[in-house]
Amino acid sequence: MATQIHPEIMPPLPAVRLQAQPVGLQPTPVKTKKKLIRRSEHEYSQVLRRSFQVAFLLLNAWVGTLFYTWMRQFEPGGQATAVARPAGVEGWLPIAGLMNLRYFALTHTVPTIHPAAMFLLVTFLAMAFLLRKAFCSWLCPVGTISEYLWQLGRKLFKHNFRLPRWLDIGLRGLKYFLLGFFAWAVSTMAAPEILSFLRSPYGLIADVKMLNFFRHIGETGLIVLGVLIVASVLVQNFWCRYLCPYGALLGLAALFSPLRIRRNESACIDCAKCAKACPSSLPVDQLVTIKSAECTGCLECVAVCPAQGALQMSLLKVMPTAQPRTMPAWAMAAGIAVLFTGIVGFAKTAGYWNSTVPDATYRQLVPHADEARHPMPGQQ
Ligand code: SF4
Ligand code: SF4
Repeated sequence: MATQIHPEIMPPLPAVRLQAQPVGLQPTPVKTKKKLIRRSEHEYSQVLRRSFQVAFLLLNAWVGTLFYTWMRQFEPGGQATAVARPAGVEGWLPIAGLMNLRYFALTHTVPTIHPAAMFLLVTFLAMAFLLRKAFCSWLCPVGTISEYLWQLGRKLFKHNFRLPRWLDIGLRGLKYFLLGFFAWAVSTMAAPEILSFLRSPYGLIADVKMLNFFRHIGETGLIVLGVLIVASVLVQNFWCRYLCPYGALLGLAALFSPLRIRRNESACIDCAKCAKACPSSLPVDQLVTIKSAECTGCLECVAVCPAQGALQMSLLKVMPTAQPRTMPAWAMAAGIAVLFTGIVGFAKTAGYWNSTVPDATYRQLVPHADEARHPMPGQQ
C-alpha cells in the first residue's frame, strides 16, 4: 500500500517557472568607470566672456547717457548741448531693424531712418550664424543682468528653481510665438508702408518713447518689471528662456551654425558637471553634439569639464572621418569683436550709420513724444 503524506505535514513545493533564454541575448555590459585624464590647459573662457559682458554693459550705459543728454535739450527746461544723437541706441529697436532689413531686401536701398538698427541686427544675426547665440551670453546687457539675477538667487536660496517640464516646454514656446507675430507683421509690409511707418512721428522718435516709458514708468509697468526681476532671481535665465523674441530669432539662425559643442565620449568620464553648469539646462553629458537653438555658446560647460579633450566648441566636420576642429575661447572672443567692429565700422565709414533727421524735426516731436501714437495699417 502506497504511503500517503498529509498535506498539512508536507506543504506543497513552490512552483518553479522555467524561462527559456532568448536566442542571441547578451549579458548586460558592466559600465566601467573611465580613468580621468585631467585637463592641463589654463581655463580662461569665463573671465573673457564676463569682461565682454561688462564692456558691453558699460558701452550701453554710455550710449544711454549720451542719448538722454541729447534728448533733454529738446524738452521744456532742457539745455542746448553739443552732444550728437548716438545712433547705437537703435540696438534697442529690433523691430525697426527687422523692418529696415525687409526694406533693404525689397529695394536694395539702405534705409535713412534708424539704419543703425538694421546694421546691429545684421551683426547679431551674423554672430548667431557663425558663433552660435554668442550675442546672448557674451554681449546682451539684458542677458548679463539676467545672469547676475539668477546668480543672486543661487546665493540666496543655494539653488535656482526649475519649472515642471510641461510648463517649461510650454513657456519656451512663448518667445517663438512673439517672434512669429512680429515676423508676420513685418513680412506683410510693402516697402512704401515701411517707409511711411518709420517716417511717422511715432517711428521717428520710437527710441525717445522707449526711454520715456522707463523714465515715467506707471504702476502697471513697475509691477510687470518687478515680477520679471523676481522670476529672474528664482529661475535661471527666465527672460531669455521664455520671453525674448530677439533670442528666439538668433537661436533659429544659430541652428545653421557650423559651430557646436561636441562631447568626446571616449574621453568623457560621465561626471555630468557640464549639464549641471549649463544655464540653458541642456543635457550636455548625454549628447555628442549640442544642436539646440537654446545653446548660447557661453562655454560654461567647457569651463567646468575636468577631462582632457572631452568637451569642446568645435567646427562641424567637413568629412565624417576628419577630426573636429576646436574653437578656443579666444577665437570666439576675437570673432565677436571682429564682427561687431567690422560691420559697425563699415556702416559708419560708408555714411550709413546715422538717421538723416534734422534737429528741427526732433525739436518739434520730442516735447510731444507721449502724444505720438502707433500708426494703424493704412494710416500715413
Ligand atoms: S551647452 Fe554649453 S555653451 Fe551651450 S548654453 Fe549650455 S553651457 Fe553654454
Ligand atoms: S563635464 Fe561633461 S563632458 Fe566633461 S567629463 Fe563630465 S560629463 Fe563628460
